[in-house]
Amino acid sequence: ACLDRIAATDQRVGAFLRTTPERALAQAADIDRRRAAGDAVGALGGVPVAVKDVLCDEGQLTTCASKMLADFRPPYDATVVERLKQADAVLVGRTNMDEFAMGGSTENSAFQKTRNPWDLERSPGGSSGGAAACVAAGQTALSIGTDTGGSIRQPAALCGVVGLKPTYGRVSRYGLVAFASSLDQVGPLGRTVSDVALLYDAIAGHDPHDTTSAKAAAEPTLPQVNEPLKGLRVGVVPEHFAAGLSESVRQAVERAIDSYRQAGAQIVEVALPHARHAVATYYVIAPCEASSNLARYDGVHYGRRTDPAAMHARLAAERKSAAEANDATAARQIDTALVRLYRQSRSEALGPEVQRRIMLGAYALSAGYYDAYYLKALKVRRLIRQDFDAAFEQVDVIAGPVTASPAFKLGELIDDPLAMYLVDLYTVSANLAGLPAISLPCGLSPDGLPIGLHLMAPPLKESRLLRAARMFE
Ligand code: GLN
Repeated sequence: ACLDRIAATDQRVGAFLRTTPERALAQAADIDRRRAAGDAVGALGGVPVAVKDVLCDEGQLTTCASKMLADFRPPYDATVVERLKQADAVLVGRTNMDEFAMGGSTENSAFQKTRNPWDLERSPGGSSGGAAACVAAGQTALSIGTDTGGSIRQPAALCGVVGLKPTYGRVSRYGLVAFASSLDQVGPLGRTVSDVALLYDAIAGHDPHDTTSAKAAAEPTLPQVNEPLKGLRVGVVPEHFAAGLSESVRQAVERAIDSYRQAGAQIVEVALPHARHAVATYYVIAPCEASSNLARYDGVHYGRRTDPAAMHARLAAERKSAAEANDATAARQIDTALVRLYRQSRSEALGPEVQRRIMLGAYALSAGYYDAYYLKALKVRRLIRQDFDAAFEQVDVIAGPVTASPAFKLGELIDDPLAMYLVDLYTVSANLAGLPAISLPCGLSPDGLPIGLHLMAPPLKESRLLRAARMFE
């Protein structure tokens, strides 16, 4: 039924880069057989799950929506993929994304557009736009996304589904193609908080293959998710409701906070004085880490190589004309063959946003600028985390908007990188501080577009976060 639904709708939505129907049906048949035989079946037994195309799946294409990895078939499974298989999930296909998870609209995919199922003229958000759209379109009940600065929560908000970014280190990053390693985190999307808790429980927990993996045991969240939290203290940050927030989002989020008040929660104002520097801090740190992580895609170590014959022919022609002109300076400036191979492979196979981030990061990390940008950003990051530590002395969760407005039109922001970066205003702080955070539907705008409520909790408090989310739902 799931594959039929995808076949009937994905022509319009474009959530999937590819489906794997044969494998899915074989997995499902195997689970049926084991059930019939009375054998044990995992917690996700037979549940179709879609996976963002950024997690290694042994022998299957893993492209990160980049031409650079168009033919990459990893020789091993990401820990998350391995745990999905162990839990007997049925892996139906791989979802579209911004190239290397850089973006907020899924328009940076090298391969296709994904449309918001609520309004096909609009973006599903990003970078996990395919993972959010497939759940919103009823193609799968669950999906896996990744969130470096908001890429699970923002598309979840714009597509009217639930999306959880766990605590940094809670879910293994082993086999996740890295964007910004100190911020990247894998997490679940689904239609309800309970569904998301089920999937989270299957993927969370320590992994010796990831040196940043949290050692603390991940207690299952699903068994408690329906228990309301007594005496819940909900923090509200006045700056979150300042100018720039659209009226429809403000009203929906205020109504949501009010419903907590009616459920007996205490609403407490808290201050996050450094939050206004979060986007600037993020857009230094993330590109710095990206420029380093993506250095491996040079057509030699990893990734698509430019056509070497054409490259050598061009190089020879350049050398010949420099020699004929007797121009020693020009001759010296011509690349060596290896440098040309790197340069041309990267220029051809990486898209404009990825190249922009590499340039920004390489610049900020270069001698003379490192202290002024990267080191400064790390210091501000520490202050942002300290603000949260202080706030969580007073409250159990912090509530606010996920995005300033509902889904924007495809094409509306893509030519304005700065405007696109500002969309991340409310989400990046949780990544910088390493906190768990969730987006859940809290209403519709007057033109019928979904709006997301954002809840954040202290590190490793996923269980509290999910229970607080379930209280609202
Ligand atoms: N929109 C942010 C960016 O472009 C976040 C992306 C993400 O979380 N992967 O970097």
